[in-house]
Amino acid sequence: MKIMVTGGAGFIGANFLNQLVPALPQHRFINLDKLTYAANLGSLRGIESLPNYVLRRVDITDMDGVDGVFDEFDPDLVVHFAAESHVDRSIRGPREFIRTNIEGTFNLLEACRKRWSADDNRLFHHVSTDEVYGSLGDTGLFEETTSYDPSSPYSASKAASDHIVRAYHRTYGLPIKITNCSNNYGPMQFPEKLIPLMILNAVERKPLPIYGAGLNVRDWLYVEDHCEAIWAVIEKGRVGRTYNIGGNNEMQNIEVVDTLCKIVAEEQGSDVNELLALKQFVTDRPGHDLRYAIDATRRGYAKSAAGSERRLLARTFARRSNGTYRTKTGCRASVQAST
Ligand code: NAD
Repeated sequence: MKIMVTGGAGFIGANFLNQLVPALPQHRFINLDKLTYAANLGSLRGIESLPNYVLRRVDITDMDGVDGVFDEFDPDLVVHFAAESHVDRSIRGPREFIRTNIEGTFNLLEACRKRWSADDNRLFHHVSTDEVYGSLGDTGLFEETTSYDPSSPYSASKAASDHIVRAYHRTYGLPIKITNCSNNYGPMQFPEKLIPLMILNAVERKPLPIYGAGLNVRDWLYVEDHCEAIWAVIEKGRVGRTYNIGGNNEMQNIEVVDTLCKIVAEEQGSDVNELLALKQFVTDRPGHDLRYAIDATRRGYAKSAAGSERRLLARTFARRSNGTYRTKTGCRASVQAST
């Protein structure tokens, strides 16, 4: 099978490729990525020379470029990760989000529609977010049937892309599946996102900026669990359906930051209060959703305890023997290891 992975040089796409390319040598993987600021080819070092992997630098908003790579490889499966993914950036500059997330997804769907027939056993798998559902109060869970109610230009652009993917199934019979997942964490995440940013800043004794009072709740999903779940949906899910994927691991942002401070202090053999004093409560993000939580029972998948304690750190950065932690961008933070 020829598997096209869009956005494979980003955080989740790279974890997906690292998991599957060596494990499935009978399949060929084509990584289609524009290589924006969020991409890191260093994340793919372990697989870049494998014979069943190739990279093509293509912008999904460029229809000719997308057609070119479809003509070259004729994929059987498209796993679509490529997106502008950071909410704060979408507030500062929404245009790229509309272009990549909506128009880019549309281009990929068109490329499939032009080439695939309903009965040739192909699949377009669209990776989306729980943010399309908007915000929850203190109770309740997002289900696949929850109405869409996105708050940010990012989540609105992802919601639009989900609707277009579904419309291509209903209108043209295009074989699609969609997964909507909660917040991911793990190796190779760009340090603009909460967990890697807080770890690096704590290690380097920089301020730890927290929106509002830090009470926003996210359901933290370990990225490798997410990638396994996507593959399970691709293999076993029903065509045309949507599946939620969560970590069953709700934490307030403030709890996440406090936990990370505790872990970093232990690692360094330093005083946790010195790190806790770096916390800075900053003006809340406009339209900041209070709580996301996922009911992932449709797929029978809800891994728990993925990361609440020490594993938040251990699973985010590889611990190196010299006590250095490294992020995907190559930022380094030297740590006096306590052991
Ligand atoms: P990321 O920002 O780390 O990586 C995105 C990748 O897409 C990068 O490699 C980038 O170069 C590529 N890309 C961006 N614009 C492109 C374009 N126009 N053409 C081709 N490639 C382009 O994102 P991520 O965190 O890995 O997220 C992957 C997917 O999962 C996204 O669709 C995102 O909406 C979704 N998602 C992410 C999370 C999360 O917590 N990270 C949660 C829910 C859903």
